[in-house]
Order: sequence, then C-alpha cells, then structure tokens
Amino acid sequence: MLEHAGQIGKKIAISGGGRCNFTNLNTAPDNFISSNPHFCKSALARYTPEDFISLVERHGIAYHEKKLGQLFCDDSSRLIIEMLLLEAGNAGVEIRCGSQVRSVVKPAPGVLADSSCFKVKTDRETFVAQSLVIATGGLSIPPLGATDFGYGLARQFELSIVEPRPALVPFTLSPQILRELAPLSGVSLDVTVECQGKEFREGILITHRGLSGPAILQISSYWRPGLSVNINLLPDHGAFELLRDHDNREISLANFLGEFLPRRFAVAWCTLYGAAKPLKHYNAPQLAEIAKQLNQWRITPSGTEGFKKAEVTAGGVATTELSSQTMETKKVPGLYFIGEVVDVTGQLGGYNFQWAWASAFAAGQVV
Ligand SMILES: Cc1cc2nc3c(=O)[nH]c(=O)nc-3n(C[C@H](O)[C@H](O)[C@H](O)COP(=O)(O)OP(=O)(O)OC[C@H]3O[C@@H](n4cnc5c(N)ncnc54)[C@H](O)[C@@H]3O)c2cc1C
Repeated sequence: MLEHAGQIGKKIAISGGGRCNFTNLNTAPDNFISSNPHFCKSALARYTPEDFISLVERHGIAYHEKKLGQLFCDDSSRLIIEMLLLEAGNAGVEIRCGSQVRSVVKPAPGVLADSSCFKVKTDRETFVAQSLVIATGGLSIPPLGATDFGYGLARQFELSIVEPRPALVPFTLSPQILRELAPLSGVSLDVTVECQGKEFREGILITHRGLSGPAILQISSYWRPGLSVNINLLPDHGAFELLRDHDNREISLANFLGEFLPRRFAVAWCTLYGAAKPLKHYNAPQLAEIAKQLNQWRITPSGTEGFKKAEVTAGGVATTELSSQTMETKKVPGLYFIGEVVDVTGQLGGYNFQWAWASAFAAGQVV
C-alpha cells in the first residue's frame, strides 16, 4: 500500500469530531448519490454495517449510537486506525508511507513479456503488480493529503469521470442576505430543508459566510449552482394557521415569531422581509404571504465553501467504467477504483465510510 502522506487514515483521525462515525445502521442504497443509483447496491449488500460492527467488536472497541443510526467510537477514532493497521498487518500488507507515486504504466499487449502488469514508480522504488487498486479519495480538505491523482489516472486510461464537486459543504449567501444574518453567526435552528425533491429535518447553523449545520450539509450534495433551497422555519406548524389564530394581537411579528424561533433570528428575518408591524395590522393575504415565506423560506445560495470545507467530493470515476461486483475497470483489466474517488457519495452520518469499507471489500475479494 502506497501512501504519500506521512501517515495513513488522516481523515479517519479527524472524522466525527475525533470519534469517527464509522457506519450507519440504516445504510441503504437511497443514502447514496451517484449517476447510477443502482451501482452501490451489490457492494453494500455484500459488506454491511453489521460486518464492520462485528470487526469493531472483535477488537474490543466501545461504540455508541449518537442519533439516526450513526455509530461513533466512545473513545477515539485512533482506535479504528489501529484496528485497520492490525488487520492489514495480519493479512501481510506492507504499508509505505511517504511514497509519492510518479507514474503508472501498463504496457500495451505485446510490448513487454508480461504486459498484464502495471509498473508503478514512486520517488524511491518501482513496483510491478498484476492488480492496482486506486483508493486516493476525493478533493476535499487538501491539507489532509487529498489530490486529484485518482482522477488523473482515470483520464490517463481514458476512463470517463463525472465532474467532481464539493458535497456535504456549507453554503455561502449573497451580501444582501448576509448583512442581516452574519451578525447571528453561531445561532442554530431546527428546520426542514428541501432541494430537488430531497428533504432533511435537522439543524442549520448561521455562519459569518452563510449557512451550515447538518441539514445544510445534507442538502448541499443535491444542490447545483443557481438552484434555490426551501427552508421550512416552522416545521411543526402551519404558519398561516398560527398567524391567523393570533391576528388580533398587538404583538410585533418579530416578537411573536421569537416564541418559536431564536429571538435574534426572528428580528433579522423580519428585517429582511420588511415585516415589522404588529400582527393585527396585517390583512389575511399579507399573513398568507408571510406564512409562505416562513414555511418555504426560499434562498438561493451564492455558492459553497468549496473543497476547502467540503466533507466529501461528489462525482468521480464514472460507475459505467466499473464492475459493481468487483470495482474493476472494464477497459483496463487489473485496475480497480474504490471509495470516494468513485462516483458514489454518501449522505452525512457514517455512510461514506460504509461505502469505503464495502467497495474495498468487493475489490479485496478478487485482487
Ligand atoms: C472533516 C471530515 C470528517 C468526516 N467525517 C466522516 C464521518 O464521521 N463518517 C463518514 O462516513 N465519513 C466522514 N468523512 C468522509 C470520509 O472521511 C471519506 O469519505 C473517506 O475517508 C473516503 O475514504 P477513501 O479511502 O476513499 O479516501 P481517503 O480517506 O481520503 O484516503 C485517501 C488516501 O489516499 C492518499 N493519497 C491521495 N493521493 C495520493 C497519491 N497521489 N499517492 C499516494 N497516496 C495518495 C491520501 O493521503 C489519503 O490517505 C469525513 C470527511 C472529512 C473531510
């Protein structure tokens, strides 16, 4: 195993706030985004969350379910790395950290005696191998070792790629909306967020650049530039009925909404929509319009915080190029792509690791 960083598993180390959300009990193909939603099914079915849990248990690693099926180590994600190192060691895997791969060549048939082999040159050594598994991950968080190596290699072998894009990433907002919201940086709300027919009920967090929090990270994977996102600020209420039931009150809209939303947010939101009057001064059509904005607050993000802040990279090596059984490329026998570099992206909550384990297992059965 060739790793260019000084140590392996840096993302595991920092994942889940240092406790590694290593799988999700509810893992199903629906939790993954891919140009071919069926592609992930075979690998996920053959290596399940239970398989990884039993490995974790065999190593005596204590864990707990935090919420929504998300399993975390009780102690440190370091234990998962140690477990993987031990398992790899037992299987006779040699790990070379600090190995920069300079080139990968597969001679055309007939050029060399054994043209079925790959020649992999690092800055120190040359390896010859019948199988080559690419597990170089995506482009997110470059300081952790992310490179475009996997995509480059795919291009070298003329494999198609679904344009990589940041996913599970915070949104940025236009200066006009930020003027009101940025001072509320750190305020969070429990909402429903919807885009392209996908909906998540979780927290959103206002940041000094825009919006983050689990619901925003989730929906960002389904968002495309130019699209709007609908946020239901009162997911437990029909806003119109709520406002209408109080439409004879002297209380200002901001103060009234402050009973259901963080007060500072209610004030900023009312400023944004120029709605500062007492409730009784609004007529029914006006209340209906305000209610619509509350239950379907439509915002168009100006962009995302990009690969620097994205938890994963969506897109990647096209699934049409790979066998869903083994992850081997159809055009280049012996060449495999697994994990995040493939056009399969999990939702937030341990799904990305489950895909990494499952796709690795699929390839591991045959190399
Ligand atoms: C902050 C953060 C928190 C996360 N938390 C979670 C979580 O709790 N649960 C979850 O399921 N997912 C989480 N993820 C996503 C998850 O970490 C990734 O989806 C997963 O690690 C992908 O595994 P991988 O093996 O495909 O790639 P990676 O884990 O990215 O590993 C790729 C490896 O390849 C090495 N590499 C890259 N280029 C080269 C090269 N040219 N030569 C040699 N080596 C190279 C890299 O140094 C790296 O070690 C998180 C991601 C981030 C950024």
